[in-house]
Amino acid sequence: DFQFPKDHESSSSSTASSLIQRDVECMRDYYRSGITKEASWRKSQLKALLSLLHDNQEHIFNALKQDLGKHHVEAFRDEIGTLIKSLNYALKNLKQWMSTKEVKLPKIALLSTAQVVHEPLGLVLIFSSWNFPIGLSLEPLIGAVAAGNAVVLKPSELAPMSSSLLASTIPTYLDDKAVKVVQGGSDIGQLLLQHRWDKIFFTGSARVGKIVMSEAAKYLTPVTLELGGKCPAIVDSLSSSWDRQEAVKRIVVGKFGTCAGQACISVDYILVERKFLSTLVELMKVTISKMFGENPRKSNSIAKIVNEQHLMRLKGLIDDPLVKPSIVYGGSIDEDHLFMEPTILVDPPLEAQVMADEIFGPVLPIIALEKIEDSIEFINSRPKALALYVFTKSKTLQRRLISETSSGSVNINDAIVQYAADTLPFGGVGESGFGKYHGKFSFETFSHEKAITKRSFLTDFWFRYPPWSYHKLQL
Ligand code: NAD
Repeated sequence: DFQFPKDHESSSSSTASSLIQRDVECMRDYYRSGITKEASWRKSQLKALLSLLHDNQEHIFNALKQDLGKHHVEAFRDEIGTLIKSLNYALKNLKQWMSTKEVKLPKIALLSTAQVVHEPLGLVLIFSSWNFPIGLSLEPLIGAVAAGNAVVLKPSELAPMSSSLLASTIPTYLDDKAVKVVQGGSDIGQLLLQHRWDKIFFTGSARVGKIVMSEAAKYLTPVTLELGGKCPAIVDSLSSSWDRQEAVKRIVVGKFGTCAGQACISVDYILVERKFLSTLVELMKVTISKMFGENPRKSNSIAKIVNEQHLMRLKGLIDDPLVKPSIVYGGSIDEDHLFMEPTILVDPPLEAQVMADEIFGPVLPIIALEKIEDSIEFINSRPKALALYVFTKSKTLQRRLISETSSGSVNINDAIVQYAADTLPFGGVGESGFGKYHGKFSFETFSHEKAITKRSFLTDFWFRYPPWSYHKLQL
């Protein structure tokens, strides 16, 4: 039986390593038996995941509350509910995704037929991060089992309640010979990377993404890297007050009301025309108060910072003497409760850390530009973002930002909701990562598209065979 130590600290690294070795071999044998390739097996695993979510909803709420202070409604919106939607979508479309596609061939392939079949990749490894510890573990798992793979999932050690909940429930609901959860930190992650995988799907930082990619190179293992970066929001001087309020509501909820800004697709900073700056800041302040009260510290609608180290990192960003004068709202922290107040900065120096690193927390710099079109140059002079948010009714500005900048996605007049779309590829470009998933894209990410051709023996073109003569070129 599979026995990865629950608490890796309690066993030596060599014990963990040999357990991983043994179980990886067992999983490979199991995969080779062909069971996971059956449509019935894939469906049963997806249904089991639905039951897991359904039966354990309260436990998941509690784990997310303890790990990240997420309100149940936020936890349902961003994790449980989104996963149920994705599972239903996968179950509805699996047959069609798995079906063999007939394709055309050039005339030279006389009397031939051709097909594309999707085969599973084999044994795959999924690393997830702590900010949506259930969602970012199970969303790729849906794709991996839908595509018929055996899977090892390593959730993040920084969300320990969620990780241990996944480790205790997944083996009881899913086929435990094909789907395993390994708990642990970077040491266990490193041990896992020493093995041969048929695919590594990684969600996390660019720093660790580089380690994953270089380890994967030893076996030429393909990788998907779902990374982060700084996602800008360009806010045009919207003319109607309704539009302005809606835009600000969507930014505030997408930033402070989504894991307190600890999200890869969070709005990292805003670019705005100087003439609209003061109106925008006032609207932001009013909207934050409406959503989180006059004293957000008392609000139950804002998540906590994952741990002290991250809280101190965020504090350091705004305590920088060059940045401090730019705080126009918030700025306080409560170390005992790992809380950081929604914080707005206006025009912090562009060379400060807060404008260089991904913020990943409830700090929102607003940068004023003379003309909103200057945002194109601003964006193009920085690494490619995972998401670009554009709040404007101007079709020209929308078109220009889509065609003249590069990012994982462009989202017009809203933020974050693109994550929930099964029909859109979710993933980065450049430094925000590569590869894509969600819906059919997840199925494809964990499949190999195999080309099949079938030829009749009946007839053939004689000119494709030697001996060569120039006369054949004239045909
Ligand atoms: P991280 O890179 O520190 O950790 C990610 C995973 O890698 C964890 O499971 C961790 O245990 C493991 N790990 C850490 N060090 C390792 C090592 N040396 N060897 C092997 N494994 C190792 O990232 P994080 O702090 O969990 O997440 C934050 C980052 O993830 C942010 O940059 C954020 O933007 C990004 N992110 C991206 C997405 C996305 O979908 N694109 C989603 C969430 C978070």
